[in-house]
Amino acid sequence: MKIAMFPGSFDPITRGHVEIVLRGRTIFDEIIVACGFNSAKKYFFTLEERIEMLNMVFAHESKVRVASYQELTVEFARKQGAQFLLRGLRSPQDLSYEQPIELINKHMAPDIETVHLLSSPETAAISSTIVREVIKYRGNIDGLLPDEIVDYVRELKY
Ligand code: ADP
Repeated sequence: MKIAMFPGSFDPITRGHVEIVLRGRTIFDEIIVACGFNSAKKYFFTLEERIEMLNMVFAHESKVRVASYQELTVEFARKQGAQFLLRGLRSPQDLSYEQPIELINKHMAPDIETVHLLSSPETAAISSTIVREVIKYRGNIDGLLPDEIVDYVRELKY
């Protein structure tokens, strides 16, 4: 059984993330969407809210499981039985950011392989950072966020 972990902050989950997970599930038997919590980081949404949004989006995806963690990604991946990490790449800048993380992960866990999928032109410009700005100024989030969470985000933040 090929299990991949898709780690991230998902603050909040965007259409870009969803695309990577849905494409990933055609390659892997199971995808664990792993929502990280780092006490040194300031989040826009609480961990509970980020998890709730992930659950709303993937409720009907039998191959997708949502989890949260507060430890090294590779340690959590091992404990969950994931042999792969799945990451999305939007641009060469994403690759520059990913490369050192991936090299360190490989050093710590040579048995875990990282797999990247290039995002489509439709989602390559979407980032959680930009989405948070749009939400802060009460802009239109349709088309940026998955439909399943648009009302939830409006009720919470608008
Ligand atoms: P992190 O805090 O680890 O950067 P994110 O939640 O921002 O977490 O991103 C998690 C993963 O999703 C990363 O691999 C990132 O490159 C990818 N990703 C983010 N936005 C997009 C997008 N629009 N298209 C494809 N992949 C994306």
